[in-house]
Amino acid sequence: MKELKGIPASPGVMVGKVFFLDKEEFEIKKRPIRKDMVSKNISRFQEALAKTEEEIKEIRAQVAKRLGKEEAYIFDAHLLILKDPYLIKKVTQGVKEELINVEYILSQVLETFRETFSSMEDSYLKGRAVDIKDVERRILRNLLGKERETLATLKEEVIVVAHDLSPSDTVSMHKEKVIGFATDMGTKTSHTAIMARALEIPAVVGLKNITQEAQALDTLIVDGSHGLVIITPDKKTLKRYRKDKESFEVFEHELVKLKDLPAQTLDGHRIILAANIEVPDEIKYVKEHGGEGIGLYRTEFLHLGRDDLPSIDEQFKAYREVAQKLSPHPVIIRTLDLGGDKFLSYLNLAPEMNPFLGLRAIRLCLADIPLFKDQLRAILRASPYGDLKVMYPMISGVEEVKKANQILSEVKEELKKKGIPFNKNLEVGAMIEIPSAALTCESIAKEVDFFSIGTNDLIQYALAIDRVNENIAYLYQPLHPAVLHLLKRIIDGAHKAGIWVGMCGEMAGESLFTPLLLGLGLDELSMSPIVIPEVKEVVRSLTLKEAEELSRKALNLSTAQEIEALLKEKARKILPEAVT
Ligand code: PEP
Ligand code: MG
Repeated sequence: MKELKGIPASPGVMVGKVFFLDKEEFEIKKRPIRKDMVSKNISRFQEALAKTEEEIKEIRAQVAKRLGKEEAYIFDAHLLILKDPYLIKKVTQGVKEELINVEYILSQVLETFRETFSSMEDSYLKGRAVDIKDVERRILRNLLGKERETLATLKEEVIVVAHDLSPSDTVSMHKEKVIGFATDMGTKTSHTAIMARALEIPAVVGLKNITQEAQALDTLIVDGSHGLVIITPDKKTLKRYRKDKESFEVFEHELVKLKDLPAQTLDGHRIILAANIEVPDEIKYVKEHGGEGIGLYRTEFLHLGRDDLPSIDEQFKAYREVAQKLSPHPVIIRTLDLGGDKFLSYLNLAPEMNPFLGLRAIRLCLADIPLFKDQLRAILRASPYGDLKVMYPMISGVEEVKKANQILSEVKEELKKKGIPFNKNLEVGAMIEIPSAALTCESIAKEVDFFSIGTNDLIQYALAIDRVNENIAYLYQPLHPAVLHLLKRIIDGAHKAGIWVGMCGEMAGESLFTPLLLGLGLDELSMSPIVIPEVKEVVRSLTLKEAEELSRKALNLSTAQEIEALLKEKARKILPEAVT
């Protein structure tokens, strides 16, 4: 039995068998072999080379057909690496002389190849190191005799263990099959963790070496509420966790009873508690937990985990479904927030050194107007089917809002000419998630109908902390005084301009922060459906006056620790049974 501590990403407890995803990313273990195993290792290597050659040729043909011969040349380079006599000689010799398993020898040889290329002056040759890695992955996959299973094709219930999971991997998770997951990398605000909460799958991320510690088919306990993973638990521990699992379910069940009660403070102040979703399938969770509409629909998830762009019609159908199912509640459709940790291989964008500071979200849409216009067409077409609103992500200043609005009016004009019905008064909002937007929110407010604060990014950009890097996760402080002052500035700026302001970052779903956020004056909080009842319980347990006093006090403190202590003290007073 071994216990690992990571970052709690999605609450709940699950016990299940380990399923490794992306085996090829793992460190290849060095294993001594007997002399009589040498020829077997070498023939496995030859078979893997032949299979890999076939695969690469097939991909080359497909790429040539889809994108043209030029684009397919890169695979000629891959074939050259694969057939390199020096590589073959070094690997066979290595196995014979060192009596070590062939996977390990191959990795070692290719690592020296990669190092040679990486150290070259010429940037083209330097870039070839990536090709070597690609070829290595392919050969290793064939050597290990494993077809790459994807989450979408899983047949049994499993706990997924991976070095990292991309948002495209998580979007294809089927809740019935993936009952929990544990990863080496990731943080609470990485999109993978957000998706786990959305799908209500218990998860622990940032475990650093779970892929080294666990073995396929090991029994694993994932305690997503406390950020713990237990590998091959003993009977006593298993029994204790099975009980914890039951009490978590009872706790959830009790809270869900609040579903139909209003989110109203003891002195009658009403706030909207909405839900964040990524795919229309999540609507059922929104309803189960009493969400009053969608405060953030992350539409880019429709574009992830596939090989081509969704058509306007497909987008329209997804938006219409959400609008209709949530009606009469509002649904805020965020325009594409691609880039950062959400990539589309089929858009063929150049790799970036700092993708979170790069061509992301509205920047990408303003650089690819046809892509943006298609989405706006789909949103406008769906707008008569419910209370849809549109919102632009990653706004850094008023010019971007003006440009986006200009494109929106061009699309409206086009639909009008074609006689396609749409809501002429479609409300438009801006996400405030970059400090420059927060500090100039007064001018942005003049161009929009509402704001929604994206704290996941606001914190990352204000504190210079990569939101997906588990090594610096301890510095990612939502309660940093700088963050609080930015929030106050945005909320006051919106209200002065006469528009409403919500929050859709993960901070909105932390019940410890609820009194502070209420006191700062937010009109709406949007969060993973699973946490709505807990937040509602807090809202219903205090007065607005108390909350305002608390936020005034918090704004006068100088460290995140002091602010957290203040909030914990408050939580103990208002809901002693909920504070552990
Ligand atoms: C945010 O940044 O807080 C947000 C809600 O958007 P995302 O997490 O998708 O960047
Ligand atoms: Mg964001």
